[in-house]
Amino acid sequence: MSDDPETAERKMRFLFALRQRGVTDPRVLEAMERIDRGEFVRGHFEDRAYDDTPLPIPCGQTISQPSVVGLMTQALEVGPRDKVLEIGTGSGYQAAILSLLCRRVYTIDRHRRLVAEAEALFRDLGLTNITALVADGSRGLPEQAPFDRIMVTAAAEDPPGPLLAQLKIGGIMVVPVGQSDAVQTLIRVRRGENGYDYDELRQVRFVPLVEGLGQT
Ligand code: SAH
Repeated sequence: MSDDPETAERKMRFLFALRQRGVTDPRVLEAMERIDRGEFVRGHFEDRAYDDTPLPIPCGQTISQPSVVGLMTQALEVGPRDKVLEIGTGSGYQAAILSLLCRRVYTIDRHRRLVAEAEALFRDLGLTNITALVADGSRGLPEQAPFDRIMVTAAAEDPPGPLLAQLKIGGIMVVPVGQSDAVQTLIRVRRGENGYDYDELRQVRFVPLVEGLGQT
């Protein structure tokens, strides 16, 4: 079904705002045009789905700000043959975007409810190259390692050691680092033959990476 004029207008402004905030990679913009954020924001906040703002989702978590999703995806430099690990499934929005850009996405959340709801959405949207798992993502996913790309969408005090170890040589990881109650710094880590290179991308604000599984 095609959108009503008001929704079509909102979606156009959504894409314009992404460009204005520095999301310029055409593949990322195309993926963000195809994955409708409205599907991932339910209930109360539905009418704000196309605003460039984070919004609440169940389990006290948030769906990230679209321009931050775009900039992080762009910084990850994902290729079509890549195997990507995302920590922090949340609504599933970021994983859905990644799934259009790479071969396979593994996404992990510590909340069962979020994983179940995201999985149902992936099915409805026909996104068949995403595997969503309930686990403590700070340990990574050793049975599928190493990964070409790793994206962490919750803030850690330092990039978790197991995730660094599960990155391929030549791989890239994007992770927000810093105290959870403060502004954090988005870091890009590149793994080379002789170690890791870090660069700081921008200030961000994410919910914390919490160890262990959630209650729901
Ligand atoms: N990427 C999401 C937003 C993530 S919000 C989206 O596109 O909507 C951060 C998520 O990280 C939350 O859902 C939270 O439950 C999850 N999280 C926090 N600590 C975690 C951990 N140790 N392992 C797995 N998931 C974790």
